[in-house]
Amino acid sequence: MLWRGRRQSDNIEDERGDSGGFGGGPGQFRIPVGGRLGGGGISGIIILIVLFFVLKAIGIDPWQVLGDGGLVDEGGGQVTQSQPMSPSGDQSGTNDEMKQFVATVLAETEDVWSGIFKANGMTYEDPKLVLFSGQIRSACGFASAASGPFYCPNDHKVYLDMAFFRQLSQQFGASGDFANAYVIAHEVGHHVQNLTGILPKFNQMRQNMSEVDANHMSMQVELQADCFAGVWGHYTDQKGILEKGDLQDALNAAKQIGDDTLQKKMQGYVVPESFNHGTSAQRQKWFAAGFKSGKLSDCDTFNNPI
Ligand SMILES: [Zn+2]
Repeated sequence: MLWRGRRQSDNIEDERGDSGGFGGGPGQFRIPVGGRLGGGGISGIIILIVLFFVLKAIGIDPWQVLGDGGLVDEGGGQVTQSQPMSPSGDQSGTNDEMKQFVATVLAETEDVWSGIFKANGMTYEDPKLVLFSGQIRSACGFASAASGPFYCPNDHKVYLDMAFFRQLSQQFGASGDFANAYVIAHEVGHHVQNLTGILPKFNQMRQNMSEVDANHMSMQVELQADCFAGVWGHYTDQKGILEKGDLQDALNAAKQIGDDTLQKKMQGYVVPESFNHGTSAQRQKWFAAGFKSGKLSDCDTFNNPI
């Protein structure tokens, strides 16, 4: 994707290094493990000893904190291991470039969706995209990086730990910048569903559904978000900024994160009743459908077989 030099969105909220939304709260401690002892010599040791007793005095087990090299939050002294790409102000070149990439893709989604909304007599409201590392507290509750990128309808924000991109490439075998762009566009697709009332309706209806039915409807919602990501891809392609292989990268990502493929990989067998995002084939099919026509009417996963 030829993204460099294009507009970057202002709607990025960088909360990396905030220990996932606990930033500034009372009781947050950042222990500079390492470096202290190495570079600080005697004074460093004294600082550590003082710190030891300070922590002990306020009821935190210093060994636990120091042993983990992580952060302590105020919610029960849970120690969290730092993520590889975070927090500690890691502003290495790749990380910063990744942030620029995310901001550019977000800007591209803003341009495309505001155009589509306008053409339909509606006004698009840009979502915020929160970058976090490790864990985050959103208006939808507490989340860790392990749950992957997500959209919270309550605060209209997309949450992304960019370490997911590395996981996508290394663990799931889906690499390429357009694979990452697809992930962002899928979450923005949920925002579109939220603005158009689809998500609120789903969240209301699922209350009275069996788990199997709720899973099925969840698949319809997720596949539509894939289709919306495809619609975004369609218009992005028209700008001439997609490169050879980009579409394949996105389709491959859709394949690698299909419920059946993931379950086979993780547990060795599949449980179709538990699918809630769609199979690899379905996810590819709906992304491709949106990409091909660019029409929202081709994304009706609720009135068509999925
Ligand atoms: Zn989704």
